[in-house]
Amino acid sequence: MTNAAPHDLVGVGIGPANLSLAALADPLDGLHVAFFEQESAFRWHPGLMIDGAFLQVPFLADLVSLVDPTSQLSFLSYLRAHERLYPFYFAEKFHIPRTEYADYCAWVSRRLASLRFDQQVRTIRWSTVDDAFELDVNPVGRVLARNVVIGIGTEPKTPAPLRGVAVHSADYLPERDRLVATNDVTVVGSGQSGAEVFLDLLRARGSGQGTLRWLTRTPAFAPMEYSKLGLEQFTPDYTRFFHGLDEPVRDRLVPAQWQLYKAISAETIAEIYDELYRRTVGGGWPDVVLAPAVEVVGATTGERGIELSLRHVQQGGQTTVTTDAVLCATGYQERDLGDLIGPLGTDLERDEAGRLVVDADYRVGTSRSGSLYVQNAERHTHGVGAPDLGLIAWRAATILNSVCGKTVYPLPERTAFTTFGL
Ligand SMILES: Cc1cc2nc3c(=O)[nH]c(=O)nc-3n(C[C@H](O)[C@H](O)[C@H](O)COP(=O)(O)OP(=O)(O)OC[C@H]3O[C@@H](n4cnc5c(N)ncnc54)[C@H](O)[C@@H]3O)c2cc1C
Repeated sequence: MTNAAPHDLVGVGIGPANLSLAALADPLDGLHVAFFEQESAFRWHPGLMIDGAFLQVPFLADLVSLVDPTSQLSFLSYLRAHERLYPFYFAEKFHIPRTEYADYCAWVSRRLASLRFDQQVRTIRWSTVDDAFELDVNPVGRVLARNVVIGIGTEPKTPAPLRGVAVHSADYLPERDRLVATNDVTVVGSGQSGAEVFLDLLRARGSGQGTLRWLTRTPAFAPMEYSKLGLEQFTPDYTRFFHGLDEPVRDRLVPAQWQLYKAISAETIAEIYDELYRRTVGGGWPDVVLAPAVEVVGATTGERGIELSLRHVQQGGQTTVTTDAVLCATGYQERDLGDLIGPLGTDLERDEAGRLVVDADYRVGTSRSGSLYVQNAERHTHGVGAPDLGLIAWRAATILNSVCGKTVYPLPERTAFTTFGL
């Protein structure tokens, strides 16, 4: 038992999702909140801050604006604080550089007294004595909370054959100089990160240096859905519709929607094509291999380099190729919550597949009087919009309305022209 009163809300992890929640919670009088992050400061994908990479959503998808455009913590407030409103106005950029989004988030993080860095949450259990969640926070010890919001994000995913052999794109920048100088380089994976890394290496490496190879299991180097009506699948309206579907239907839909989240922006594809075309001027073909529908099924390291076993997913045949370095841009997976929420055991409701049951307010079904919420761990219940930055302010406001038991942030009834469902 501790003498300190439980917090009203504690956030675990400070990525954009919980930073948005902290920013929207800040002006709410009387709400006692704290957020814990294991890193020493706010950082957003530092290994992929490639020059010329842009945010895939408009700047209005900042931490607060789509819920409260008058917030002191909006992207426009950040520009005002840095006396950059006029340059932004004349630049006419709806899509800002990724580095600028990271800098904006870091600026917000320095303005919030509720954030605690260098503090890792090890476990969350229920304290029947205190009638609250009890978090074991390293190094501070026990922290009590009536409501907990887990926002620990995702972790890099490497296919089994490439583990221990390849560098993941999350660590690209520290490895960039070495990869630029290496003769034969293979990039695996054709999402946005794979395309950005391939383009960056293509531009940085001299011609005649050796082969730059780009392999992907996907049937094509496919463009990301970016039509205006297509993007309505990233609205609260669609999220609500998806949440109401039966579990087997949701499970079938997510992989079928891969072009909404796993593909490449049309601009990056065009930049790659233009760069390849430029290299044909004067005759000859650039020393690159772009091979879709090719899966890496094995990898061994020998004296001549790394030998990759490749299988064509449509033809079915196999071959091998030897390369000097492999960069794996094979995406991210939701972090395993096992260690963190293990002590809550059977308190938490799970579906047929053992996944957490998450309600429309992002609350996990629990037998306790406190509420546990998740952010960006609910793709199975809320759809492919779970990691999308354009939905984070709305999700955070939904959670705050639920925690406060009243509408502290009014949210729009309707957000799409499309009617989802009958
Ligand atoms: C390179 C890249 C670019 C992207 N660009 C876009 C984009 O343009 N548009 C878009 O919509 N989406 C984009 N995304 C997807 C998504 O928006 C991001 O992944 C986003 O960072 C998700 O935010 P998050 O807060 O859920 O998780 P994260 O950013 O992963 O943050 C989670 C945090 O929790 C911390 N943590 C983990 N465990 C603990 C613990 N036990 N205790 C304390 N702290 C802990 C971690 O250290 C981390 O800082 C991008 C993803 C990547 C990889």
